Amino acid sequence: MSASLKLPIFMDNNSTTRCDPRVVEAMLPFFTENYGNAASRNHSFGWVAEEAVENAREQVGRLIGASGKEIIFTSGATESNNLAIKGVASMYRKKGNHIITTVIEHKAVLDPCKRLERDGFEVTYLPVDKYGQVAPEQVAQAITEKTILVSVMAANNEIGTLQPLAAIGAICKARGVLFHTDAVQAVGKVPVDVEAMGIDLLSLTAHKLYGPKGLGALYVRRKNPRVRLDALMDGGGHERGMRSGTLAVPSIVGLGAACELAGKLRESETQRLLSLRKRLHDGITAELGDVGVNGHPTDRLPGNLNLSFAFVEGEAMMMGIRDVAVSSGSACTSASLEPSYVLRAIGVGDELAHSSIRFGLGRFTTETEIDFVIRQVITAVNHLREMSPLYEMHKQGIDLSTVAWAAH
Ligand SMILES: *Cc1c(COP(=O)(O)O)cnc(C)c1O
Repeated sequence: MSASLKLPIFMDNNSTTRCDPRVVEAMLPFFTENYGNAASRNHSFGWVAEEAVENAREQVGRLIGASGKEIIFTSGATESNNLAIKGVASMYRKKGNHIITTVIEHKAVLDPCKRLERDGFEVTYLPVDKYGQVAPEQVAQAITEKTILVSVMAANNEIGTLQPLAAIGAICKARGVLFHTDAVQAVGKVPVDVEAMGIDLLSLTAHKLYGPKGLGALYVRRKNPRVRLDALMDGGGHERGMRSGTLAVPSIVGLGAACELAGKLRESETQRLLSLRKRLHDGITAELGDVGVNGHPTDRLPGNLNLSFAFVEGEAMMMGIRDVAVSSGSACTSASLEPSYVLRAIGVGDELAHSSIRFGLGRFTTETEIDFVIRQVITAVNHLREMSPLYEMHKQGIDLSTVAWAAH
């Protein structure tokens, strides 16, 4: 084993990322020296802060093909999604009360939609295919004269599947419906361009992009069409009135730096991640059978690999690879251990969902780590399968779906 291997290994980059040291360095002066309030117009402390904020706005805009003027800073993507969805719903209510989204969105989209349903809105939750993709024709079919917003995520956080944004954007444009995308997982990882994809509103967050936690942004289109939003909070009228509150200057500078870095590194990083992911997948499947990939084989985030290991129990599996930080297909956010609704939506049974592991590779993942994870996974799965009577029967060629189990 290489001496450079440090445990535990972080392989959960879809949940958050390490702040890049270059981002931290860019932020530091804004805690200790340039600590002005960006809204202070009367002195140089304020001007320096404001200039840094405006520079960051441009850096964020550039990464997604937008102008800096169209970027609103928020506390994260949860707020960005809430502001986009509730802000549009409230502003355009007279035009209609219908919203279209998908069943595999992040809770930060689904929950605002559920609240709007309680407030009299109608929400259509589109299904996805076995790879987790929405059919653009289904979006087109779901649009009525009451539809005011379509919200489809750019890339799924669990299975990494990319959505056909440009096709959906073109449909929305043609039908005069606003198009929002939760692009948290995609920005900086795959090409995202608000013009080419017909996007009117886009949510992103710094901490999934090697930036600080607690800082996000919402892109709000300014022309063709000019999107208007009702604010969630009232206050000093910052951010063109859409998001009041003193700007978090150090974090904003961090997001700007993270976006600029991501733009520079994206192509080389993609190649590196694709090769590491292939190594991980091939290494595991070279020695283990009955392993399935969840999500789209090619239309997916370069750093995401979601695997199902038949005949192992997910929680036992997690214990078996204790030195590796990954996520399982069981959403243990609540007290109950529910199988993931995303895996369910793509047709993965509850049993397999519980035995699914999401490997999230990132900028700081090394080949040494990948090789260690491969060994850990193989050892854990073999060990658990040795103890499994079901696996024993499966190996003997018994079709388990035909077995009449005795009731107890
Ligand atoms: C992480 C994540 C969010 C939430 O972002 P926060 O900044 O943590 O609020 C929203 N959507 C997706 C797809 C995510 O992965």
